[in-house]
Amino acid sequence: MDEGLLLGLERRLAEAKGTQLLVLHQLGNHGPSYFRRYPPAFARFQPACQSDELRNCSREEIANAYDNALLYTDHLLARLIQRLQAKAAQVDTALVYVSDHGESLGESSLFLHGMPYAIAPAVQTQVPMVMWFSPGWQPARGLDADCLRKRASQPTAHDHLFHSLMGLLDVRSAAYAPEYDLTRACLRQPS
Ligand SMILES: [Zn+2]
Repeated sequence: MDEGLLLGLERRLAEAKGTQLLVLHQLGNHGPSYFRRYPPAFARFQPACQSDELRNCSREEIANAYDNALLYTDHLLARLIQRLQAKAAQVDTALVYVSDHGESLGESSLFLHGMPYAIAPAVQTQVPMVMWFSPGWQPARGLDADCLRKRASQPTAHDHLFHSLMGLLDVRSAAYAPEYDLTRACLRQPS
């Protein structure tokens, strides 16, 4: 289960020195076996597909299993933020969460993901993104949270991820393109 990603996190935070990037690569909602992605306590939406073969299930059962897996991702993010909050007096942290792709659950008889981008339906290409900052991060970096909230209503793409992480980590190289850094326009004194 994805919660295994949190193992050792407390120790890493306790021992953190300088600037660090920690990558937690979730299995997330990868199909077709959505029912294998969450523990029984998260099986809230029923009936949920319990087969590795989507053709054995109805669209409702597939969507329910997928939604249960989403609930578990919500839980994982909440647990992660709780851990970061618990260490907020010692470590300033920024959390960036983004999915790599969406998923078709039977709309237009399409399932899973991986259609060529040009013809892929929006459910495969439009994904959630979340940013969270510990209370100490914002004043330390001069980050204006209201400004960032406004930015969140505008379109963003995976193209922004690399440059935004460089911005958050205050790393600069010839590869850094400030116009793709999501937080830069919301810093009081951009470096
Ligand atoms: Zn993927």
